[in-house]
Amino acid sequence: MSETHTSRTVEALVPGRVTSDGAGVRLTRLFERELQQRLDPFLMLDAFGSDHPDDYIAGFPDHPHRGFETITYMLAGCMRHRDSAGHEGFLEAGGVQWMTAGRGIIHSEIPQQQEGRMAGFQLWLNLPAADKLCAPWYRDFSAAELPRGGDAQGASWIVIAGHSHGVAGAVQRQQTEPLILDLSLPAGAAFWQDLPREHHAFLVPYEGSVAIADRALPTGQLAVLRQDGDGVAIEAKSPSRVLLVSGRPLRQPIVQHGPFVMNTRAEIEATLADYRAGRLA
Ligand code: FE
Repeated sequence: MSETHTSRTVEALVPGRVTSDGAGVRLTRLFERELQQRLDPFLMLDAFGSDHPDDYIAGFPDHPHRGFETITYMLAGCMRHRDSAGHEGFLEAGGVQWMTAGRGIIHSEIPQQQEGRMAGFQLWLNLPAADKLCAPWYRDFSAAELPRGGDAQGASWIVIAGHSHGVAGAVQRQQTEPLILDLSLPAGAAFWQDLPREHHAFLVPYEGSVAIADRALPTGQLAVLRQDGDGVAIEAKSPSRVLLVSGRPLRQPIVQHGPFVMNTRAEIEATLADYRAGRLA
């Protein structure tokens, strides 16, 4: 990290709220509607993590989406995905599932375990208005398939999307340029990530303890970064894991109705009509 860099600072800490979704999966919704403009192009982030089968066993039976992409990152456990576009995937610890709902998809995500730990994140990334009705797309990446970087301090990072320190991530998106990193930092490590000034950025330290500009961040909360630097410097006080996310804002109207995110109320009405008529899948 050169002296000419200025780290962004923390604007807000967001604890999220415990809720349940699907057929009764317990999760922490770190953000949704209230931060969709501030964290544009991202629409939602859920964190799930439990050792109790009752918290996850029911999974997410068939449900629809339109107008955005979902990115699921599994830290522990395994789930099977099936969707109406004919994609099927088995998602295991350390793997990522990237699904572009586009004009519409109906899918299910069902745990493939009766006991043990299930943990991970699901992030929703908006699609540009012109791409909301694109053809659905699906890929899953095992832990071994995900690009990763590392440095002499012993830090390592998985590049799910975007670019970091010369490593190209598994997925790139031209307009929103999402950067999604999972950092593993040993105690005492300092990690620098370049971030374009205009891009919105946030992080979730989920193991250990980290600080930004000497401000200790609570583990498990989402930290929103100000647009006040050309990157972010993250210091690990103990061995830590951090999800770091940024992207270029789309600055388009956001109208959400449950699992559908469009630009206008009329587009939502049309989506509901399509769904009721069986035209979504
Ligand atoms: Fe879903």
